[in-house]
Amino acid sequence: MSSNVTEPAPRRSRGTAKVVKAAKAGKGESRLALVRRARRINRELGEIYPGAHCELDYGDAFQLLVAVVLSAQTTDRRVNTVTPALFARFPDAAAIAAAESAELESIIQPTGFFRAKTRSVQGLAQAILDRYAGEVPGRLADLVTLPGVGRKTANVVLGEVFDVPGITVDTHFGRLARRFGWTTDDDPVRIEKEVGALFPRRDLTLLSHRVIFHGRRVCHARRPACGACAIAPLCPAYGEGETDPIKARALLKYEMAGQPGQRLKPPAEPVLGRPAEPTRDAPKAPKDEGDAG
Ligand code: SF4
Repeated sequence: MSSNVTEPAPRRSRGTAKVVKAAKAGKGESRLALVRRARRINRELGEIYPGAHCELDYGDAFQLLVAVVLSAQTTDRRVNTVTPALFARFPDAAAIAAAESAELESIIQPTGFFRAKTRSVQGLAQAILDRYAGEVPGRLADLVTLPGVGRKTANVVLGEVFDVPGITVDTHFGRLARRFGWTTDDDPVRIEKEVGALFPRRDLTLLSHRVIFHGRRVCHARRPACGACAIAPLCPAYGEGETDPIKARALLKYEMAGQPGQRLKPPAEPVLGRPAEPTRDAPKAPKDEGDAG
């Protein structure tokens, strides 16, 4: 962990005791208290991760769609090592649809499941060519008709490229939403609906990025670093992981505040809906993580 990194520590502020009481109340928490606590978690995550963003490199909507398909069962960082060569050779739907499968497979191979992923991206490219003249549609109802594109993928693209707010329910988001007590459900569509009802719609894309950042860095699936978690006072699941601050800090996987993240080529200019890149020196590169959504 780099020394120029702000280390998270459970905060104490006015009203915290009340919030902890509400958080611990679990099923007894009123709807109003739940909404207030959820929005406060979002605000605090916004302070912890001011640069939270989609961690896939891409140049346009089609490339982002392909990158999300490739990110299944692997890390965004690994996808980012593959896509520069892929998009240099096959930059758009027409090129990918017409490509030799064997060549695509050899480029995609490091992301795993490369034969299935090659079939998916070629099917996706062909459908976009046939039905949308090569342009990625900007509506959820259209996106989810494309092969291999579910609501999670569609919401990533809508939020990132089309500035349409939405929740990306990947493995991290679902796990944290349950730990936060925002839902008890496992079904991504129901999670999206239940969590979406707690926040203003305009907040949903950034909320997704922040929650996923926290899931990747602190609130891990197997050993959440509760003792190093800045939102511990707001979390009913505090204690599910390591509570000793020193041991918990050793569990942190990425530098805090979201840097350097997994993007290898972050955009030079802030993109619509995405905060500017922080300016401080980048700490050392993170290790790959095996629980990408
Ligand atoms: S489970 Fe632990 S690490 Fe996760 S948000 Fe709650 S307190 Fe933080």
